[in-house]
Amino acid sequence: MQTDTIIQIENVHKHFGKVHALRGIDLNVGRGEVIVIIGPSGSGKSTLLRCINRLEEFDQGSIVVDGIPLDSAENINAVRTEVGMVFQQFNLFPHLSVLDNITLAQRIIRKRDKKEAHEIAMELLHKVGIPDKADCYPLQLSGGQQQRVAIARALAMNPKIMLFDEPTSALDPEMIQEVLDVMLALAKEGMTMVVVSHEMGFARAAADRAILMDDGLIVEQATPNVLFSQPKEERTKAFLSKVL
Ligand code: ADP
Ligand code: MG
Repeated sequence: MQTDTIIQIENVHKHFGKVHALRGIDLNVGRGEVIVIIGPSGSGKSTLLRCINRLEEFDQGSIVVDGIPLDSAENINAVRTEVGMVFQQFNLFPHLSVLDNITLAQRIIRKRDKKEAHEIAMELLHKVGIPDKADCYPLQLSGGQQQRVAIARALAMNPKIMLFDEPTSALDPEMIQEVLDVMLALAKEGMTMVVVSHEMGFARAAADRAILMDDGLIVEQATPNVLFSQPKEERTKAFLSKVL
């Protein structure tokens, strides 16, 4: 299918004590591909995302990101600078302004000077629709605005891949769409994205592929339309009957 694979996951296993959270995950993601992962709570979705940028160590198998195997401290750092992540709980620094939230890592990790980091931050705040919030503190913003800042902060590092872990689950319903719209625009620009989300409308509009995980395994995958309308596996049917 893809000629250019940017994430290659082979037979990845992960235990937390006796819990076998990932039980042999195989997944290739093409450059520019958008994947949506769905599945019941506890099925290993977050663990899989966290393994991709090595926030979580895995026990067995291999993950290669943009040609870099996640097998040494040096390589892990290199991969982390290429992979942006957005969490359910925005994880902004509460004591820093929006602008400082977006410039901090640029200055420390990308070694940009203040002026350049500010310019990039303002550009990204325009992109996510809240340039007027640059001098606010996170708690002065709505949840949807905070999540858009978190996306801008991740993008400021020029990631090649963006991982989203239930980015709209903590939001009030009226704020969900503004965040999904930013994500949809990013997908249309060709960003490689792996998104854990049960927002079916977003999946249909943005994703090339939808994957159902259950019990630490990929159970079924297809285009979103096919997976949601004509699921083959009983576990997929059972899950979809609860969320659709
Ligand atoms: P999901 O994101 O699909 O809800 P998770 O990846 O968070 O699932 O969790 C998969 C399994 O691993 C669950 O049984 C969960 O309780 C367990 N788990 C996840 N993180 C930890 C952890 N840090 N310590 C112990 N168990 C964990
Ligand atoms: Mg999760």
